[in-house]
Amino acid sequence: MSNIENIIAHLDQDVNLKTTFFDTLEDWYRLERQKIINIKKFAPYIAYFIIAIPVCLIFFACLLNGFLEVLIFLIIISAVIMCERRIKVSHKRSVNKYFDSIDLTYRKINTNDFPDLKNTLNKLLNNVGLKDYEVKMFFDRNNHYVPAVCERIDEQGKIIYFLLSRNLLMLHNLNRILFESIIYHELGHINQHDTNLWIERNLEKEKIKYTWIAYIFSIPTILFRLLANSNAKKHYKQERRNAEHYADLYSIINSKNFGIVGFLEGNYLSDSEDHDHPLPKARIDFIEKIVNKVFLKIKLD
Ligand SMILES: [Zn+2]
Repeated sequence: MSNIENIIAHLDQDVNLKTTFFDTLEDWYRLERQKIINIKKFAPYIAYFIIAIPVCLIFFACLLNGFLEVLIFLIIISAVIMCERRIKVSHKRSVNKYFDSIDLTYRKINTNDFPDLKNTLNKLLNNVGLKDYEVKMFFDRNNHYVPAVCERIDEQGKIIYFLLSRNLLMLHNLNRILFESIIYHELGHINQHDTNLWIERNLEKEKIKYTWIAYIFSIPTILFRLLANSNAKKHYKQERRNAEHYADLYSIINSKNFGIVGFLEGNYLSDSEDHDHPLPKARIDFIEKIVNKVFLKIKLD
């Protein structure tokens, strides 16, 4: 078994094989995603730990020296904590500004004008269990087919922002399978909570300015930010690419077809490499690798 067409032909002949295949692929996806999410959760604590050891050593040195040093130490620690908070608040403000800019830049799509589209979206959201999200849709003139999606979770609730092109809306009438595959891919990003990755990168382009107080009072905070930033930059590209690969698999699992491969093979995407997306060929290769692995596994079992 070496290409997707062969596997599709086999699956089409046997309904039981098809069910087992999609179930096994879903198990694989859940397990692999879980592994990545666990690493992500653990990583910041390692950075804190590196800073915590010298800080504790200084504290004990101060304790041995007397009351004044302990007081100074506590003041410094309070300043660090306050600066961390300030940075978090100004970062949150930048993220909110980013979403507000979407509201201002793009024309909103009134879903009542597109009842059929509204039904399709509701159906897909229901299928993947994301129905507690509010959906906001906008026209995006820049892209021909590829929609952009981002997730916003705050006091306002849980919102999905969709930027859709006119061509994609037309695709909804012309090729429903392809349209649904693309939307399932986008919902994969929501399910994986990875859209903050490119929001962060867009914010970085605009250069977030932290408050001056953070720079003056807190050397450890700056150190921590530098550490965290250089680490994030190194991993950003790979993480962003993984997010695309996994969203492709999510689309296959939930649509129970290979429409996304058709999308990648068609002339919908530019074949120039950008920072965020792997080339269509690399995406198909990844799908082929995993699909092949899963197919061989169920054949052997
Ligand atoms: Zn994507």
